[in-house]
Amino acid sequence: MTSDTTPNPEDAAPAGDTQASARGRAIRIDVVSLFPDFIDQAAAVGVVGRARERGLLTMQGWNPRDYAEGNYRRVDDRPFGGGPGMVMLIEPLRAALAAARAADPAPARVIYMSPQGRPLTQAKVRELAALPRLLLLCGRYEGVDERLLQAEIDEELSIGDYVLSGGELAAAVVVDAVARLQDGALGDAESAVQDSFEGDGLLDCPHYTRPVEHDLGRVPDVLLSGNHAEIAKWRRQQSLVRTLERRPDLFDESSLGKADRRLLAAWRAEQGGDATGGTGG
Ligand code: SAM
Repeated sequence: MTSDTTPNPEDAAPAGDTQASARGRAIRIDVVSLFPDFIDQAAAVGVVGRARERGLLTMQGWNPRDYAEGNYRRVDDRPFGGGPGMVMLIEPLRAALAAARAADPAPARVIYMSPQGRPLTQAKVRELAALPRLLLLCGRYEGVDERLLQAEIDEELSIGDYVLSGGELAAAVVVDAVARLQDGALGDAESAVQDSFEGDGLLDCPHYTRPVEHDLGRVPDVLLSGNHAEIAKWRRQQSLVRTLERRPDLFDESSLGKADRRLLAAWRAEQGGDATGGTGG
């Protein structure tokens, strides 16, 4: 990974919201990985790339192989007790983590990306996005010697109930989700306010753009009406219904306010009492 944490006079305060960096509001994310370039490239484009250019996010990769000893710079060994696969050695990881910590005085939340971790949610992303520093550890092979995890890790995070071959994709997911929540990272057009899981935790409503008429269908009339109150009501209803249908695990009907109940009741009436009907406009 390219080190963009080294102060670069040209990057220090390019313009406008880049003052975030100068005021110390930029989040710093260090990643310990055998493939630091992977995460660097994943974080080079789009919203995240722009956030880095603006100094809202700084990143640095740390390769444990650079801290391994011997001609072969070994970073793994066979598991005690036998069995398949290899386990990442304590020392190269410990040295890489120590070097990363020492690179900045701000305290870092140290996170091991792991299928055994707590699931990454938008609420967790918000929590992480508010911190000054993250230090992400990516495993490979069968994982990391448990003693290192016990001694060095604040928390383990999983991006889903499946097993990846390494933690880099998972770390890239954290970097992306955290970076887009930094102040100034999103323009109005990309605002996170209406996104799924934000606010009261509902899924986002469907979106349409030109043309109005297409052989795949017509844009719902309400969105063309210019009636902002009706548009807001329609969008809210769509969010409610989508969440109910697609993610009933996130939907707590008993906690809905009066207005939401009315929207849901209206939708159910339209469905002829069939609460599992479609959400189409
Ligand atoms: N033996 C481990 C287990 O079953 O829990 C899986 C090791 S996995 C092949 C190698 C590395 O990929 C892990 O150390 C972890 O860093 C990363 N990884 C795999 N699945 C992940 C997931 N769902 N979320 C986050 N990281 C994951």
